[in-house]
Amino acid sequence: MAANKTLLMLPGDGIGPEVSAEVTKVIDWMDKRRAISFDIEQGLVGGAAYDAHGVAITDEVMDRAMNTDAVLFGAVGGPQYDNLGWDVRPEAGLLRLRKEMDLFANLRPAVTFDALLEASTLKPEVIRGLDILIVRELTAGVYFGEPRGMQEWQGQERCIDTQSYTKAEIERVAEVAFDLARKRGKKVTSVEKANVMKTGVFWRQTVTALHGAGGYADIELGHMYADNCAMQLVRNPNQFDVIVTDNLFGDLLSDCAAMLTGSLGMLPSASLGAVDGTGRRKALYEPVHGSAPDIAGEGKANPLAMLLSFAMALRYSFDLQEDADLVEQAVQDVLSEGKRTADIMGTGGEVLSTRQMGDAVCAALDRRAA
Ligand code: NAD
Repeated sequence: MAANKTLLMLPGDGIGPEVSAEVTKVIDWMDKRRAISFDIEQGLVGGAAYDAHGVAITDEVMDRAMNTDAVLFGAVGGPQYDNLGWDVRPEAGLLRLRKEMDLFANLRPAVTFDALLEASTLKPEVIRGLDILIVRELTAGVYFGEPRGMQEWQGQERCIDTQSYTKAEIERVAEVAFDLARKRGKKVTSVEKANVMKTGVFWRQTVTALHGAGGYADIELGHMYADNCAMQLVRNPNQFDVIVTDNLFGDLLSDCAAMLTGSLGMLPSASLGAVDGTGRRKALYEPVHGSAPDIAGEGKANPLAMLLSFAMALRYSFDLQEDADLVEQAVQDVLSEGKRTADIMGTGGEVLSTRQMGDAVCAALDRRAA
């Protein structure tokens, strides 16, 4: 089959390259066993790019990111870069990618694996079978609104952040949530604070109007205040399918939902932009965890968050649902066999290195595909 799907791999720093190497194994497996080929390019980002070029991402890599089907991002950062100026710090590479690719919809799934139920602080009966998707608006809201900063006010200093949303900013992220819900449980919960915030009222009105006018009659739409949503996430998380919310509430609620499932080493994410003239949606996939300098180079990193991020790329950038399912099922299989990296080791089971975990997933893929 012609290799026409393009992937830009940006492994980054710390454990980023280690976990990215395990994705390469699964990509090779897809090529050999499923005849799915990718044109893969590699690039530097974060501290690795700074060491080589003095910037956190070069214009050339940025250009490639703008023109690929999907970016697979590892992690950036490390103590050796902590004292650099803001504009060249490793995080600046990720922020530039998000900004210039205009990745406005951040997708964070919270899925429990039966074999890891004991890793959650919640009771197994509350989180068994959990499968939530949080869609967070990522490029507007209070993290970007103007005016912001220090002011003189009535003879004293004060500091301001501004929550601001345009109709178009709300509509485009709500559309992503409705479209994703259609492929899942067909239910969207829109979350804001319409009881106390004008932007919350506007958010609710805009999402409701879009639902009515946008051809989403098959999707059930509900509304919830953000504080109640936080409570409901720990009380009865299985009531949710897709949650759509703003940048600030999404930041908090997605971390809250993530922890229902246990470990940082298991959490994938996707950030999506608009569909362009060629029908391609700009997209970046990355594990939620950072570069974990405390374990970098020791072969202890859990590669499953990175592998599950690749599964999201198969699902959302390449529309390969069956293959995405296959990767996710292979991860389930490996965990059910009691195989664990150190971070998800409960009581008993077999401790695997990063590479052994990647190999175990490929072996499980072999069995599934046999
Ligand atoms: P971190 O996620 O890197 O690590 C937190 C803890 O979780 C550490 O103990 C680490 O060993 C462990 N951990 C994380 N991922 C793991 C994995 N896959 N397998 C096993 N254990 C894992 O967060 P941190 O320590 O706050 O930050 C370290 C560096 O990463 C900093 O420079 C920070 O700025 C950067 N960071 C980058 C990103 C990103 O690239 N998106 C995100 C968060 C933090």
